[in-house]
Amino acid sequence: MAREIGSKCKLCRREQTKLFLKGERCYTDKCSLSRRQSLPGKSTAFMPRMSNYAVRLREKQKVKRMYGITERQMKNYFKKAAESGGDKGLKLLQYLEMRLDNVVYLLGLAPSRASARQLVSHGKIKVSGRKVRVPSYIVTVGETIEVSDSKFSRGAAPSVKPPKWLKKSSKGGEVTSEPTRDMMDEEIKEYLIIEYYSR
Ligand code: SF4
Repeated sequence: MAREIGSKCKLCRREQTKLFLKGERCYTDKCSLSRRQSLPGKSTAFMPRMSNYAVRLREKQKVKRMYGITERQMKNYFKKAAESGGDKGLKLLQYLEMRLDNVVYLLGLAPSRASARQLVSHGKIKVSGRKVRVPSYIVTVGETIEVSDSKFSRGAAPSVKPPKWLKKSSKGGEVTSEPTRDMMDEEIKEYLIIEYYSR
């Protein structure tokens, strides 16, 4: 399945949670989810009861949409996590979190992951001094991530602060360790995603 290209706010309404897909707007009262809680295509805020399968599917869709990745990418991360032999859920989250576009977003060089992805694919980001144009590139410990010229930096989203596994610098930052579970989004229930793909 291709990357979602329709209305971003509809995705938040579908998942009934803020996915922060639009940068600054998400932090203002213009946020569509704050103004309208109904599911897309429905006029009331009535939520149908979900089956166990639907709960797992929605969690997977939420995370996939939050990181702006395709179904194929998500499945590949799950496969690699399952083959890693360790904690599958943690490994899956680490793959998502350590994507270059996400790191650019967390370092405050772009106000949304979509904007960060654009910066990377337009060749404005250097990893340890080398231009990398692949948003799905997985960063490793010790690498530096910098914008090639500060004028290309698009500014941080209001509430995004670099997590402990990243060290901020004037043009970007450095990966100091792999993220542990407590350094990543607490709202994500990764065990539901693992159960979804393991069924
Ligand atoms: Fe989601 Fe942002 Fe749109 Fe709000 S403004 S519904 S958080 S994409």
